[in-house]
Amino acid sequence: VAPDPASNHPELDELRARLEEIHDIGVASRLLGWDQLVKMPPAGAEVRAEAMATIDRLVHERFIDDEIGILLDGLATYGESLAYDSDDASLIRVARRDWEKARRVPPALAGEMSRVSSAGMHAWAAAREHDDYTSFRPWLDRQLDLKHEYIACFDTTDDPYDVLLDDFEPGMQTSEVRAVFERLREELVPLIAAAGTDREPAFVGRPFPWEVQQALSLEAMSAFGYTAEAMRFDTTVHPFCTGMGTHDIRVTTRFHDTDLRDGLFASMHEVGHGLYEHGVSTSLERTLLCEGCSSALHESQSRLWENLVGRSLSFWRWFYPRVQGAFPEALGGMSVDEFHRAVNTVHPSLIRVEADEVTYGMHIILRFELEQELLSGNLSTADLPAAWNARFEEYLGIPVPDDRLGVLQDVHWSAGSFGYFPTYQLGNVIAVQVWERAIAELGPLDDDFERGDFTRLGEWLRVNLYALGRKYTPQETLERVVGGPIDPEPYLAYLHEKHGSGVIA
Ligand code: ZN
Repeated sequence: VAPDPASNHPELDELRARLEEIHDIGVASRLLGWDQLVKMPPAGAEVRAEAMATIDRLVHERFIDDEIGILLDGLATYGESLAYDSDDASLIRVARRDWEKARRVPPALAGEMSRVSSAGMHAWAAAREHDDYTSFRPWLDRQLDLKHEYIACFDTTDDPYDVLLDDFEPGMQTSEVRAVFERLREELVPLIAAAGTDREPAFVGRPFPWEVQQALSLEAMSAFGYTAEAMRFDTTVHPFCTGMGTHDIRVTTRFHDTDLRDGLFASMHEVGHGLYEHGVSTSLERTLLCEGCSSALHESQSRLWENLVGRSLSFWRWFYPRVQGAFPEALGGMSVDEFHRAVNTVHPSLIRVEADEVTYGMHIILRFELEQELLSGNLSTADLPAAWNARFEEYLGIPVPDDRLGVLQDVHWSAGSFGYFPTYQLGNVIAVQVWERAIAELGPLDDDFERGDFTRLGEWLRVNLYALGRKYTPQETLERVVGGPIDPEPYLAYLHEKHGSGVIA
């Protein structure tokens, strides 16, 4: 890390020093979180939950310190005198916003939210394994109570859900999400009905040893920009990506040994998150600006690499010979066109993370609606599984056989992450907006992809989006990258073109 440039401003130096210290403590928490999901023996969960809660409380206490407020007050005029785009102006501006928000949450509540989240995730994992919603329900009730306490810390908004959404998508309103989702639903329901007759590909059920899948995943990820110098790649139960700075990125995935799709696409997805974190300008290292801008922008990048690149015909013209060569028995008779179709089938299914591009949106709309109803009290946790099952069948046309494949499938609610789900689908929408802007500036990339060359795309994304980190709000960031606000139309046009006729062009 390069030494901080002398600012000739003692208050800014003091603010930086404090924020760096808080960041460093946060690194310990993130590393414990990664370890909890990748390495920790299961019986370590209880003590780990306490350790992480303590660290999160320390971070929170130090950040909301009066002294930081005094420094921010003292720097207000200086910050406004700097160019809006400068790192220092952005640091002062974003720190002020984060500080005012964090100040509203008492440390005891922040610590309790952290503790209940760790323990709740553990309870959820056991409940899911045993298909036992009843044992999980008290944790869900506790999380909802905590969410109400949390919302009460803030000024009244049009919709209490706005407060929760703001943690993942700062500045976004529930009403805006609803408008985007209503537009999507209009188009997705008939698209699913028209395309939903695809069958499972013939290779499903054939042997795909996971070690071979892992090597292939690493090859694709490396072509996208993964580097062992600055990243690790591990297996876990639920794929995720986390970072301890721009040069310590932890990508995780999982492999099924009778289908290669989940592992390969989860790997391409998670490395998309990793490339975003890795591409943040090193001038922002150890500051609160050193991460992706928001959940939706982050997800736009995992989806861009997974879907716009990883499910394209030009990508598979390069990569399929390698995959076919690695699994000659399972894929021997299959052409690249057939394989490309097979990884793009539209097929309503039970599990969100395995859903195709077309049906995925309905999985999210279902969750977005249910979590708002839980929060408003219109739906009780006792009635949640029945509500889930009824609406799932209505939206996706298939019955839910048990809670393991239904309401218990996702970790988010156990971790208190209400307001997170919609950002996944907003990410899908933004991915196509960003992709179209990249193609408009770079020209078609098919020839690059067919050679296994993704550097022009990766570099464009790094310069235009990743490097910005968290300097700007999500709205400002999107405006800078694509020249306008979130717009579902490019995404819908993309789905119609790719899947509308039931045949992949
Ligand atoms: Zn993701």
